[in-house]
Amino acid sequence: MEKCIFCEIADRRIPSNIIYEDEDFIGFLDVNPLNAGHTIVVPKAHIRWTYDVERFGDYWEVAKAIALAAIEALEAKFVNFITAGLGVPHAHIHVVPRFENDGHSELPVFGNVKKIPKEEMIQIAEKLKAAIAKNPPKKAVAAMAEKAEEIKEVKEKAPAEKRSKEDIEYIRREIESG
Ligand SMILES: [Zn+2]
Repeated sequence: MEKCIFCEIADRRIPSNIIYEDEDFIGFLDVNPLNAGHTIVVPKAHIRWTYDVERFGDYWEVAKAIALAAIEALEAKFVNFITAGLGVPHAHIHVVPRFENDGHSELPVFGNVKKIPKEEMIQIAEKLKAAIAKNPPKKAVAAMAEKAEEIKEVKEKAPAEKRSKEDIEYIRREIESG
């Protein structure tokens, strides 16, 4: 099986500041961050493109949880998601927290790397980890089931709908009896 630098990080043969991990995905701080908290999210398996990832919804739920963590724990103003894929031939989503006057444009400028001391990188990772633990990524399939259940409950509780059915029935009887 093909291996690359992201596979090495996922296998922990190359050390990194890992902020999130589950059975399929791992998120770690980019060593050349475009901003504090810049994270790379990858599937653990060596998969070429993001759209080749089978559990695509769950993959992006991880990116979302990291983004929300950056907003909460690092006070990011907003967050960019970037997925291109020519740099390393292993699916990856860049999660880039954005701040006031951070030297980037609407999208991050890829040459504008921030020098963040090692100690600070560790602190950033700890903050993000704690925030993600408080608000972990939803599993997309589970979230859909939850939503369907919510809709069902609302429908069952809706008296208006019941009433309208009775109304229709009443009207139908009225018509039949002439
Ligand atoms: Zn790989």
